Amino acid sequence: MSQAYVALGANLGDLRQTLESALADLMAWPGIRVTRVSSAWHSAPVGCEGPDYLNAVAAINTSLAPLALLDALQAIEQRHGRERPFVNAPRTLDLDLLLYEQQQIHSERLTVPHPRLHQRAFVVLPLLELAPELHLPGLGPLREHEAAVRDQSLTREPQALVPVLAG
Ligand code: ADP
Ligand code: MG
Repeated sequence: MSQAYVALGANLGDLRQTLESALADLMAWPGIRVTRVSSAWHSAPVGCEGPDYLNAVAAINTSLAPLALLDALQAIEQRHGRERPFVNAPRTLDLDLLLYEQQQIHSERLTVPHPRLHQRAFVVLPLLELAPELHLPGLGPLREHEAAVRDQSLTREPQALVPVLAG
């Protein structure tokens, strides 16, 4: 089993329901075990117009190799009606593979650690909740990136996400 971290983001439709149902999909996926889920965090979108985002990070244990895990994440995105009309377009659900063990991966389909992980408060803050001691391969301690994202407006939701299978 390998430990990995997955970012969940939604900014169209019922944000909380989308994340809760995506979490349930992750938990039900063969070869994926969700071990911990961060708080839900509200943020303004980066690099595009649109409504606010709701984001969270899940820690998982998985028997899937990195590309098979990406396949699973993309299949779950598709289930939630994801469309990609243009770069940074608002989307129903975005699932990103943030980290896979301490691996550094640079392939056509997959870059790990996720290239913008350390620049985004909506990833750094939920990740810090789950793993304050985490080391980012090639980027040093996660904790050292907190200051750089502190000015991005982000609000922690007091109500925890409750995974629920849709429909
Ligand atoms: P973004 O998440 O950057 O806003 P997308 O979700 O549309 O954009 O992803 C575009 C492409 O990024 C996907 O087709 C996928 O192959 C690639 N990609 C590269 N690295 C990763 C990663 N770590 N997690 C998820 N997708 C990735
Ligand atoms: Mg993505």
